[in-house]
Amino acid sequence: MLDSLVVKSPAAIKMRVPLLDLKAHHAPIEEELLAAVARVVKSGHYIMGPDVELLEAEAAAYCGAKRALGVSSGTDALVLALMALGIGPGDEVLVPAFTFFATAGAVARVGAKPVFVDVEPGSLNIDAAALAEAVTKNTRAVIPVHLYGQCADMDGVLAAAKKFGLRVIEDAAQAIGADHPRGRAGTMGDVGCLSFFPTKNLGALGDAGMVTTGDDELFDRMKRLRVHGAEPKYYHAEVGGNFRLDALQAAALRVKLKRLDLWTSGRRENAARYDALFARFGLIGPLGVELPVRIWKNARLRHDHIFNQYVIRVSKRDALRDHLKLRGVDTEIYYPVPLHLQQCFAALGRKKGELPVSERAAENTLALPIYPELTAEMQEYVVSQIADFYR
Ligand SMILES: *Cc1c(COP(=O)(O)O)cnc(C)c1O
Repeated sequence: MLDSLVVKSPAAIKMRVPLLDLKAHHAPIEEELLAAVARVVKSGHYIMGPDVELLEAEAAAYCGAKRALGVSSGTDALVLALMALGIGPGDEVLVPAFTFFATAGAVARVGAKPVFVDVEPGSLNIDAAALAEAVTKNTRAVIPVHLYGQCADMDGVLAAAKKFGLRVIEDAAQAIGADHPRGRAGTMGDVGCLSFFPTKNLGALGDAGMVTTGDDELFDRMKRLRVHGAEPKYYHAEVGGNFRLDALQAAALRVKLKRLDLWTSGRRENAARYDALFARFGLIGPLGVELPVRIWKNARLRHDHIFNQYVIRVSKRDALRDHLKLRGVDTEIYYPVPLHLQQCFAALGRKKGELPVSERAAENTLALPIYPELTAEMQEYVVSQIADFYR
């Protein structure tokens, strides 16, 4: 998708601004990454092993979590967490309607029913008040998503969970290191799920993920379920899956984790620069652009928002996106269809109009390039092209 630009008028392209530039991202650490890969190749040990264990310890320390377990992807982290909590057929799990598909897909895959809850208009994270209203006698858990890298209203979510006896799985796939007044993403509920998909702030060289927890018993169960429920090897008290993490990915992630704070700072600086540019170009408000809302802005939090995505809300979104593409600027829509309106969930019987905030977000959100290597010139170009569109 990044290079599928259809150039109608090449003269209009003064600069190419991709959504993400992983080659530039890896260039300064290429030698170290290649050395890590070579070390794994020569070790003869390719699945789990010492690099995975070291990554687990280092990532747990980074997140402020008691325990962490490397797994095959963020999606599998969610499936594993649900399995370990014993959630299955007959159970309902509350999920925001506006998130990446995996949040709800994982619930369906363990045989439970995803129950879609609307999101808050500002943060686009799950609405804790709406959540309480969606609870039934079958509700077992809630999965708040820390969308775009900003923590959900965990005070509200945890209060509702306590009141109704629900387990809490944090989908922190986009939010590694994001701070909330209560703690870091992934450490506030029963289990936290991280993704190391290459577009996330900490990305592997392929698929990888992690679960975090403060509950030793839950940790032990997830550890067993990661290897088909075996303990000891070849003895299965219950059925798990293959949710293992490759040594190669863990070795690469260990190289990258050391730089994560630096990269996150870069994203935050870029976000602040966009904010200032949109104000300078007079684009905020009636002219068409709403900036990302920062909920937890607080001097004591180092990472109130880690900007996995910088998502603006705009009028005439699709036309703006086409305009930017013709000018060489790649953008993305996260997400064009709210989950309650996905075809695969049609049998759940949810209708258009039921979750208006999610539906509106699917129509007017637009993610701009925000990666740490983005230059000030590129950002100025992006915003000037947006100004050009609304002029
Ligand atoms: C990326 C993502 C996932 C899934 O992670 P994978 O590693 O791609 O399986 C789940 N939830 C959210 C919110 C995500 O952004």
